[in-house]
Order: sequence, then structure tokens, then C-alpha cells
Amino acid sequence: MNKVAFVTVASFLTQRKIQLQSAGDSQHIYYKLKSREEHLADALQNEYDVIIVGGGATGAGVSLACANRGLKSIVLESKDYASGASSKSTKLVHGGVRYMQQVFQLSEKNRMEKWELVAESLRERSNFLSMCSYLTQDFPTLIPCTNLFDLGYYYFGSLIYHCVYLYYQTGGHTFKPPRIVGKEEIQQHFKYAKCNYGVIYYDGQFNDARMVQELLVTSSLKGQNMANYVEVKGLLKNEQNKIVGVQAFDKIGQKQFQIKGKCVVNATGGWADNLRLMDDPTVSKRIVSVAGSHLTMPQKYGSRHWGYLIPKTNDGRVLYMVPWQGNMIMGTTERKLENPTHDPTVSHEEYMWLLKSFCDEFTVDASEAARDVKSKWCGVRPLVYSSNALSTKEVSRTHEIEVSKSGLISVMGGKWTIFRLMGEQTVDKVQELIGNKQKRIENLPKLVGDWTQFDHRKEIQIMMKMFDLPQSYAAYFLTTYGDRAYDVLKLIYENPENKESLHPQFPHTVGEVLYQIRYEQARKPEDILFRRTRLGFLDQNAIFTVYEKVFQIMAKELKWSDKFQQQFLKENFEYIRKLEF
Ligand SMILES: Cc1cc2nc3c(=O)[nH]c(=O)nc-3n(C[C@H](O)[C@H](O)[C@H](O)COP(=O)(O)OP(=O)(O)OC[C@H]3O[C@@H](n4cnc5c(N)ncnc54)[C@H](O)[C@@H]3O)c2cc1C
Repeated sequence: MNKVAFVTVASFLTQRKIQLQSAGDSQHIYYKLKSREEHLADALQNEYDVIIVGGGATGAGVSLACANRGLKSIVLESKDYASGASSKSTKLVHGGVRYMQQVFQLSEKNRMEKWELVAESLRERSNFLSMCSYLTQDFPTLIPCTNLFDLGYYYFGSLIYHCVYLYYQTGGHTFKPPRIVGKEEIQQHFKYAKCNYGVIYYDGQFNDARMVQELLVTSSLKGQNMANYVEVKGLLKNEQNKIVGVQAFDKIGQKQFQIKGKCVVNATGGWADNLRLMDDPTVSKRIVSVAGSHLTMPQKYGSRHWGYLIPKTNDGRVLYMVPWQGNMIMGTTERKLENPTHDPTVSHEEYMWLLKSFCDEFTVDASEAARDVKSKWCGVRPLVYSSNALSTKEVSRTHEIEVSKSGLISVMGGKWTIFRLMGEQTVDKVQELIGNKQKRIENLPKLVGDWTQFDHRKEIQIMMKMFDLPQSYAAYFLTTYGDRAYDVLKLIYENPENKESLHPQFPHTVGEVLYQIRYEQARKPEDILFRRTRLGFLDQNAIFTVYEKVFQIMAKELKWSDKFQQQFLKENFEYIRKLEF
């Protein structure tokens, strides 16, 4: 990086800052973010209104709702943010067309519950995309049809789905109505598709782990605290048996400490029963953990813009194929887990089922498709148990908020799409408990990268020119960080070392990793490889290429001793290998 370029970048940033300041938006560039250590230092001094246990979609949503109602909260995450289900989803912001289908099946027992689920999710789908335009987009999904009866059935089903959305629409984002498409158009998108016609309907998609990060950064800028690698090991109670805090363990600093709070929210997803039992060992379990697996395939098997939904595979299950970050992801399976581990692996059976269902639908060679699999991953879906459930399909897909006698607020079940609603409803319960009357804010809260409401296309052009970036790289920074991209690029351009690329096929550089360590609390290589960047989900080989470099950057930045490095390198590499990537 030469001096001239550096001066140009610096002057551009100053100019931009002046522009934003003159528009009354002084804080929109150079966001001042706290480090993990600063958050922990706050935790030792503060007494919180709310202690949120779990740093996935649910915990992050509760944190944002607290921020917007003037409550002081801290999120404690025992591993990394979004390392549970929240980074391993299908990445859909959706109402759930399959539940819509169930509403009209006479054999379905809970048709009213399914209707409410779809209506609620469709309302939240618009809100989700409006809150965070840079990390989300809508996209058409094809339902392939083999006969005219199916075509009519899925078209009218999709039309009702669209009408429900129109009726309940609250957010600013609008979705197009469904339409019928023929073979020619289908072949332009899916050259291996066998079907002759089908129905297109619209849903949204997003970058799940990055969304948790953006939610937490937004909350942090609004005064909330958060720390990853802090496990809640116990609940502190007063003489009246009411919860007054938690016993926590900092796995990085290897320190045990107490945090005081007026109430504790249990947002631990598939592990919610652990905290419920910690509070009261006599309660019955409510969570059914269901594993869901995905494969990542090269773009050539799918479309750059369209998704593909098989509503009924050979064994009656639903299968999604979704374009994501220049690849195609396909999933998901459902396998009940008795004792959910944090990182379940894709079973051989699931792997074979996914490949077989894919090959049944497209004219592709099965062994070539198997060779082309780029990555696979598995997540734990936390469903709420209903006692007469016989299979995972009968377990409730809605969410529930339970308040225990001692004041533990457990928010269970639900899905990514409705995280905002779950957060708001949980904070309603918090307020009842602690006697706070602050109302919900009326306008939808925007996430930090959207605060300046920029024009995406124009901004990409500016970035390309200013930083001499190819279009795809400029688009990457913008669709990952929103207008925070300028802060990341500033660090990358601060010195020539920071510009060094990690991998020729990806836009990641040393400077970006430094940003993620300093301002996004990345503390282990897998935090960078799987969640701050999405390399591990996109290309399993790439992570082995960049692992050592990422390790070295972290060792230098975090000042790891030689002894620690030797021990950690071995343990950590083993851990990553175990993930089967
Ligand atoms: C395969 C799959 C596909 C999905 N696809 C979609 C989709 O396309 N769209 C959609 O809307 N939803 C989807 N979902 C659902 C969605 O991903 C989940 O509902 C959501 O991510 C759950 O978030 P959570 O925060 O409740 O749980 P998690 O993300 O699992 O977070 C819980 C966190 O709590 C932490 N924790 C546990 N115990 C402790 C403790 N003692 N102390 C501190 N921290 C603790 C864990 O480490 C974990 O990070 C999918 C789920 C799966 C599994």
C-alpha cells in the first residue's frame, strides 16, 4: 500500500465524515466499538436490568429490544456468538410455505397454530428485510411441477401466501406476487432441471452469523454489553429464592466471577433445559433438539438468483436449494437428538439422503455431484416439546416464553425470521417482572450498517474507485458490514501488511481479520473461519489453506505466549478437523 493511496483513502474518509456530519449524522463513520475486555470490565462494575444467557439469534434479539427500551443488559455466550443453530440455518427469511400447505390439509391437527405461525412469520419477514437491507435480499424460489394439477395447486397456494403477506404487511419491504414459469425460463436458471414448468414465489434470505454480529454491534453502540466465551454456570438467588444474578466463567481469561442483574433471560436454544433445571431441578424438559444438515455445492448446479424447493421428496420431506454467497446450499434434514452436542456432524445417512434427493431431481451424475460437495454442516433446531408428540413433525414450531417462580425467563423455540418479535415479547415479560413501563419503540430499529441509508449501487461504485477494488470485493464489504465497511477498509489500508490477502478466491485480508479481533470479539481461529467470514461454510478446503495465517494474526494481535500457542494450535486444529470439514 503506497503513501499516495493511503492519503487518498484518509482524505476520502474525512470528506465522507464531513458529508455525514453536515447531514446531521455525525456518528456514522468511525464507529467507536468496545473490545471484549472493555465489555467484561463493564460487567464487573454494573448491575444489569437483564442478563441474557446465549448469544444466538434469540439472545441478540433480546439485547436489541432492551437497548431500544432503555434497559441495561449484557449477553453472555459460552462459545462464540452464533456458534449454535444461528450460523447453521438455511438462511431463509420466510413465512414457511410448507406450514401454509399444512393449513389446508384436513388431516393436520394444529391448523390454527400453523396459520398463526405463517401470518406471524410473514409479518416479521418484511420487518427483517427492512431493518437490515445490506445483509438481506429477496429472491424468487421455484416449485417444480410435473402435472397441471400440481401447477394449479402450488400456484393458488403461493397466491394465498402472498395475500396473507399483503394483509399483514407492516415493514417497508415489498415482495412480488407469484407467477407460473415454463421450461425455457427454468432452463436458463437450472440447466440440469428435469421439470417442464413450475411456480415462482418470493421469500428473503440473509447471512445468519453476520446478522447476529450486526445485531450485537448495534446494541453495543446503544450502550449494551456482551462477551463471548463466558459460560453461565449457576444462578444467584436471594433469601426469597428470587434470581439476582449469575455465576459466570470466562473461558479465555480462565476466571470465575459473579454478575448482578434484576432478571435473567434464558436464550440458550437447544440447551434451554439445562438452565431451567439449574433454576428448578423438578421441572420437566421442554426442548426437543432436532439436527438439520446442509451441503454446499458449486454454483453450476443451481441458479445465481433463484432458489428451488422440492415440496415432496421421495420420502415426503421438503428440500430447499438456495443460492448463497456464490454457491448453492441444500438442506435440510430433521433428526431427533437425545443429547445435543454443540457441533453435531452430518450423519452418513443424511449426507446420502441429501445427495440422492438432489440427483433424483436433476440430471446430474451422482458420483460427480458427490465429488463436488464443497462443505457440509449440521445445526440443532430448538423446538418446544408438547407431551403427546410422536415425531418431530408434531412438535410445536411456535415459540414460548416461560417465567419461573424465581424469575427465570426462558424463551424457547421459534425461528430466525421472528427473532425481533421474540425479543420484544421477552422484554415485555422482563418489564412485567421488574416493574418497568417503557413502551416498545414505534419505528422499526435499523441495524448499524443501515443507519445512513445509502444507495447500494452508488456506494459500490464509490468503493471500487476509492479503494481500487473489483466489483465483487466492494459488494462483499458492503453486503457484510453496510456502511461500517468504511471502518474495515480504513484498517485494511492503514498499512501494507494489512492488505495481504488470505486466499486468492476470497476478499478477506489481514486487516479484516484484525478488525474482527478488535471490534467483533473473535478470539479463536474458528470464529474467523466460520462466523466472521463464512469460509468454512463455503469451501472446506479454503479453511485449511488459511488456518495457519489466521492463527498467526491472532497470536500476534492477542499476544499469545509460545506455550499457549503450541497447546492451542494442536487442540484447536483437532477441533476443526472433528467438525468434518
Ligand atoms: C438446520 C437448520 C435450518 C434452519 N433454517 C432456518 C431458516 O432458514 N430460517 C429461519 O427463520 N430459521 C431457521 N432455523 C431456525 C433458527 O436457526 C433457530 O431458531 C435460531 O437460530 C435459534 O437461535 P437461538 O439463539 O435460540 O439458539 P442458538 O443459536 O443455538 O443459540 C443458543 C446459544 O446459547 C449458548 N449457551 C448455551 N448454554 C449456555 C450457557 N450456560 N451459558 C452461556 N451460553 C450458553 C450456546 O452456546 C448457543 O450459542 C433453522 C435451524 C436449523 C437447525
